[in-house]
Amino acid sequence: MEKGLIQFTPKGMYVPLADVYIDPAAAVDKAFLTHAHSDHARPGSTLYFAHAQSVPILKHRLGNPAINAYSYGESMLVNGVKFSFHPSGHVPGSAQIRVEYKGEVWVAAGDYKIENDGLSIPFEPVKCHTFITESTFGLPIYQWQKQELIFNEINEWWKANQERKMASVIFAYSLGKAQRILQNVNHEIGEIYVHGSIANMNEACEQAGFKLKPWKILNSGVGKDLTRTALIIAPPSAAGTPWLNKLEPYSDAVASGWMAVRGSRRRLSTDRGFVLSDHADWDGLNWAVKESKAQNIIVSHGFTQAFARHLQENGLNALEEELIRVNY
Ligand SMILES: [Zn+2]
Repeated sequence: MEKGLIQFTPKGMYVPLADVYIDPAAAVDKAFLTHAHSDHARPGSTLYFAHAQSVPILKHRLGNPAINAYSYGESMLVNGVKFSFHPSGHVPGSAQIRVEYKGEVWVAAGDYKIENDGLSIPFEPVKCHTFITESTFGLPIYQWQKQELIFNEINEWWKANQERKMASVIFAYSLGKAQRILQNVNHEIGEIYVHGSIANMNEACEQAGFKLKPWKILNSGVGKDLTRTALIIAPPSAAGTPWLNKLEPYSDAVASGWMAVRGSRRRLSTDRGFVLSDHADWDGLNWAVKESKAQNIIVSHGFTQAFARHLQENGLNALEEELIRVNY
């Protein structure tokens, strides 16, 4: 398999026949991007290929580079190799990348989740011969509850804080998680304010065509009488910083899949932790692998060894990405 359609190099996934990289770790000539998170979309490449909905976000994050934009399912040829983007349900504009040459099909799923989050276009299985899957939560202990239950918990926490005249501050990644919270909490409880970095992402998502529910930027002009009843969405980097001082008294919480791990909330020293992930859980990963109908599975990003072994035990040709890296 090391001579496959997609190879794993120190710069990232590489399609030698087309001379393009997928989510490269360094600047290259042609970079296909699965989504706009900073560990997948890095600056400096000459030309980017991405799903149209992620273009405003990429322009904001990468400093207005050249980007060829495509819709889901639209295909294009690079040196005779056929590429297309398909929904991965991870964050706004995220995509699996399908690569086809002479009837052989590989899919690089990027980051993905199965549950419809009410924001991103939901994950769609794409049939292929070789499926490259992440494994961020690739252990059987990771089993997500339906998001409705998690949002009920967040709503109840918010209401309880209001009764005590405390602001509610929830920490969430600025792209994806923040907007997912905005779309799914109960807006009848109160107003929603966001940190400046999330305001930038909200604006980029709105430019990309996402219709977000009402939100306001939290700036120095917003008084305590307003924030005390509000839900405030801030990036994890704001936790424990002086930015929070003006919100006293407040209760804080973090929304992340890692909240399923015992001790995570204590380490972050927030009052609450809500288990909400933009990645597939154990059942979701297994479902996606099955639906791809692929015989060859390459497992990357996470619990690669454990998940690859599990797939092997189920009769699939599964390999850990780390073990098939080539050095050029
Ligand atoms: Zn991501």
